[in-house]
Amino acid sequence: MSNGLPMPVPAAGLPPRVRIHEVGARDGLQNEKTVVPTEVKAEFIHRLAGAGLTTIEATSFVHPDWVPQLADAESLFPQLADIPAGVDLPVLVPNGRGLDRALELGARRIAVFGSVTESFAKANLNRTVDESLAMFAPVVAKARAAGLHVRGYLSMCFGDPWEGPVPVDRVVTVARRLLDLGCDELSLGDTIGVATPGHVQALLTGLNGAGVSTDALGVHFHDTYGQALSNTLAALQHGVTTVDASAGGLGGCPYAKSATGNLATEDLVWMLEGLGIETGVDLGRLTATSVWMAGQLGRPSPSRTVRALSHQEQ
Ligand code: MG
Repeated sequence: MSNGLPMPVPAAGLPPRVRIHEVGARDGLQNEKTVVPTEVKAEFIHRLAGAGLTTIEATSFVHPDWVPQLADAESLFPQLADIPAGVDLPVLVPNGRGLDRALELGARRIAVFGSVTESFAKANLNRTVDESLAMFAPVVAKARAAGLHVRGYLSMCFGDPWEGPVPVDRVVTVARRLLDLGCDELSLGDTIGVATPGHVQALLTGLNGAGVSTDALGVHFHDTYGQALSNTLAALQHGVTTVDASAGGLGGCPYAKSATGNLATEDLVWMLEGLGIETGVDLGRLTATSVWMAGQLGRPSPSRTVRALSHQEQ
């Protein structure tokens, strides 16, 4: 009889602790067809915090017409006021107006969402890469002046549905520019899930060669081709300690055909527990949260770990 956890067997060359940046409530729900009521989102985030996650991306202050799933940011954020102070609740802001709304509500961490490739910048932001960086510059500067922590998302770091494979040098150039704007950390996104471990190592090595510290880097893998955990392990071996994941594997990418979506937090925690790497997450409570959320969405979680553990409990 299992206790719902793998046997911890540490491996050499890995960090003792990983910070999970939980994206289910924002990246996950943004890409789900179902629009979830505000009270359910608030309960979801409270449950995630209760399961031990300490960085929970809460919502996006994007124009309500663009992302109807997250149009309730203004009413959701105050419902999170009782979340313990040790839990960070970053919010995505697309522009200066979004930042002002986030500041009015007391957000302490923001994220901006950039693209490495021109095709995705055009499709997602309706701007060139240069134009989007120019738009972020005053947003990042104002956020930093207000004492906020700023994360910069970089999407399409490995491949792009229109342009194909993305050269490491291209990612390095845009990453350097986002850091020069004042971002505290970058999240390297494999938006269509085409990365493989050698490519991950090559990108991280390329970034280090351009003076980017591994400490400033997080990774954001999608499991489209079943590579998310392999890629995560490659990043950990390189010294990365911030990993994005989505509870229950919520969400996907509308630009990736039949994408299975974000790396599931439970699958990540299972691997990290097995490696003896500390996360602070209670896998049982997290799984129960994803089973509950699957009930809200009316479909089962795609996470293998959620399926295995919830089946076991029945
Ligand atoms: Mg994602």
